[in-house]
Amino acid sequence: MKKEVIITDKGAQIELTISSDGYCFCPVCGEKPNNKEWRPYDEFGFPSYDICTCGFEYGFDDSGEPPYEKSWASYRQKWLNNGADPYFGKQKTKEEKLAQLKNIGL
Ligand SMILES: [Zn+2]
Repeated sequence: MKKEVIITDKGAQIELTISSDGYCFCPVCGEKPNNKEWRPYDEFGFPSYDICTCGFEYGFDDSGEPPYEKSWASYRQKWLNNGADPYFGKQKTKEEKLAQLKNIGL
């Protein structure tokens, strides 16, 4: 599994998972984006303020200060248990969600 690590000016690390064809998966739900260039955080660690289909807004739901792993994990639990509203489209089933999480090694 390919990883991309961003080190912020404060020395925090943001680890992103990249697909074999170069797309960056959502670090919360493992969704594959349509745009190959897309990253949830830029090379300096600044959030995109994009909202994933899982409903997670980078720079908002992560409290804006890395490390982000904790907020990703707690939102992921909420999402798995249907406690998060999908940003668009229909709610995925638990099986679909668990399959998608394999993208980010979970
Ligand atoms: Zn997501």
